Amino acid sequence: MIPVFILDPLAEAQLGPASLWRLGESLRDHAAVLEAHGSRLILRRGEALTVLRALIAETGARRVVWSRLYDSRATARDGAIKAALKAEGIAATSVNASLLFEPWTVATGAGGFYRVFTPFWKAVRGREVPEPLPAPAGLAAPAAWPASEDLAGWWLGGAMNRGAAIVAGHAATGEEAARRRLAAFAAGPIARYAEDRDRPDIDGTSRLSAHLACGELSPRQAWHAGRAALERAGGGGPETFLKELVWREFAYHLLHHTPRIETAHWRGDWDGFPWRPDNEDAERWRRGMTGVPMVDAAMREMYVTGTMHNRCRMIAASYLAKHLLTDWRVGAEWFRYCLIDWDPASNALGWQWTAGSGPDAAPFFRIFNPETQAERFDPGRRYRDRFIAEGHAAPHPDALAFFEAAPRSWRLRSDDPYSAPVIGLADGRRRALDAFEWHRRRAR
Ligand code: FAD
Repeated sequence: MIPVFILDPLAEAQLGPASLWRLGESLRDHAAVLEAHGSRLILRRGEALTVLRALIAETGARRVVWSRLYDSRATARDGAIKAALKAEGIAATSVNASLLFEPWTVATGAGGFYRVFTPFWKAVRGREVPEPLPAPAGLAAPAAWPASEDLAGWWLGGAMNRGAAIVAGHAATGEEAARRRLAAFAAGPIARYAEDRDRPDIDGTSRLSAHLACGELSPRQAWHAGRAALERAGGGGPETFLKELVWREFAYHLLHHTPRIETAHWRGDWDGFPWRPDNEDAERWRRGMTGVPMVDAAMREMYVTGTMHNRCRMIAASYLAKHLLTDWRVGAEWFRYCLIDWDPASNALGWQWTAGSGPDAAPFFRIFNPETQAERFDPGRRYRDRFIAEGHAAPHPDALAFFEAAPRSWRLRSDDPYSAPVIGLADGRRRALDAFEWHRRRAR
């Protein structure tokens, strides 16, 4: 068996700088794990079918097995590879390694796909999910190994500039770290997850998303840990955790059945909505300089840690799409650029849900007030103080780290005065509601 990772042009184009850096960390760990099992990870860069054909010619391999992806470009590529290899007499098999319920295995009574989360959840919650298998004791090695490219030579962190060193201090990487984090979460915080998951000032969520995105943890491992906690202690925490894992499944369900969710309004009646294209206010949003502390703290959290708390993703996304009336795709693209847990399905669903154009979405007119949200979910200001340096005599190290991580061209200084608001919250809200009303009338 010859484990291979191919960095193909599609992956390079799809992953943002933070995800590419995170992928490099993951590959380094995976190679070490394979070596500990008497095997190796062969790295090749190039168009996937060409690389596979070359490896087959070099090694005499008769069978190629890979784990499935679900976005439309990847499925088109992998379908073509499967057909080509089979035509050349090579057994080609893809398997599910990254979902609990593959999109085509869940259907409504009428045979269609689900557009609303709750019925989807009800359809899958009682299903049997196979137990994860233990790692094999050893892996059969070939008589001669094909050559591998050098991971360092791929320079996967290159596009992150200064940011990588800062993010590295916050990002646990690798299978072992993922297993430890899952075990720690399932032994404690999961019990209070239903209450704590909305509080960015508390370490109350699993922080497993980057491990799941990189395949260091399988959702089956997370599911079974959640089920075991539910059986052991019962209560809303484990149940809510399982439900959140199923949001990820729902996102893939929608991505598979409606690939347009990544780039177009999921609901066609949103076409023609008067979004502002990218603009200077959006640039201030990207830089964490909107003058709204909860939004800025969220944007800076993403820059410093490579992730953002779910509540803050909703607040920051809502502020961009509604108060700044900016096309949600501008925000989705920045998240793709900055997140180490970037995921094509969850990011698209999260943005369209928040903007109002997506399936089962929050209605557009329900506009989050970032100040009220802050009072509710960050009552002691711990989260805002952790990420905002301005105005503090002794800022938190993570607040200062933002100024270290931010590109020099932004010319940000921690001792500058805090930004004035881009727009008054009431004015932004009114403008958003006027735009919505205008669009609704026009569509009638
Ligand atoms: P936990 O609260 O511990 O949840 C456990 C797991 O359940 C998560 O790791 C994740 O796999 C899944 N999950 C939880 N909430 C959601 C959700 N709302 N949608 C889908 N899956 C969920 N998640 C990503 O993994 N990648 C993204 O690129 C991404 N972009 C988002 C963009 C926006 C605008 C919004 C509103 C949400 C986005 N999410 C994304 C979903 C969610 O914010 C993250 O999954 C979550 O914050 C990860 O933290 P955690 O692992 O501690 O989650």
